[in-house]
Order: sequence, then structure tokens, then C-alpha cells
Amino acid sequence: MDTADESSVHERAPIRQGLLSGPLAQLDRVRLAGTTCTSCGETVLGVSELCANCGRDTVREIALSERGTLWSYTVIRHRPPGAYKGPEPFVPFGVGLVELPDGLRVMSPIACVPDKLRIGLELQFKPYVRRDENGREIVAFDFEPANEGSTHD
Ligand SMILES: [Zn+2]
Repeated sequence: MDTADESSVHERAPIRQGLLSGPLAQLDRVRLAGTTCTSCGETVLGVSELCANCGRDTVREIALSERGTLWSYTVIRHRPPGAYKGPEPFVPFGVGLVELPDGLRVMSPIACVPDKLRIGLELQFKPYVRRDENGREIVAFDFEPANEGSTHD
């Protein structure tokens, strides 16, 4: 009898290494990971060992803010080529630059009816789980309008 290893079934992976902070088993504690430099003050998305601005190693990992505002956006109206992971049939979706109070802008899908997108929209970071082609749980994320509840539940 084939007995699947229960623990590996529940092992989650981030959509990209070094991009998420916090325990992936507890989605409400997951944040975007950032690297901030104590020498020059630069903060960037993702974990890095050197400052992207001054090149020093005086950096530390931080959890980025969950709230941001929509700085700019576009609407993807055609199915992207390649291994597109979104709904079938394709539905248009927004992609935007989300300005975080940490001092950086993050490119992210925006889970919102495209007609409601506007500059300055208040957004909330929203991690969620999807499965890859091998059935493994992948923690992905988007931003959604704040105070409107989840689109993933
Ligand atoms: Zn620096």
C-alpha cells in the first residue's frame, strides 16, 4: 500500500524563495519579506545579504507592511502566454505597483474588479494557498481593496 507522508503533503513553499516572511502554515502571520539597510536606509523587496543601493552588508530582514496604496496599475485583458495559473476561462485582472509605508513599491496582482481600480486605492496584502502541478501547496499573494473581505474564501 502506498502511504503518503502526511507531513510532506502539508509542507508549503513560497511562490519565490526569500519573498515571504513568517510561518507559511499560518497565513494570517505571513507578510512580504524585505531587506532594509542600516547604513543608507534603502528598503527592498525580498531577502538579500547585501544592500541593493550601497552594496554594504549592513542589512536586516524585515516583515513589510500589510497595507499600501495603489500607485499605478494596468489591466491584463488577454491571457498571458506560458504557464498561466489563473482562472479558466481567463478573466481580465489588474496588476499594480503598491506603495508601502516602508518606502518601496511592490508589483502585485490586484484582486479587484478592474473597473474599481484607481490610483490611491487602499490595499491589503493577502496571502493565499494554491497548488502547483505536483499538488504541492504554494503560498502566493495579491493585494485586495482594504475592508472589503477576502476574495479567496
Ligand atoms: Zn545601503
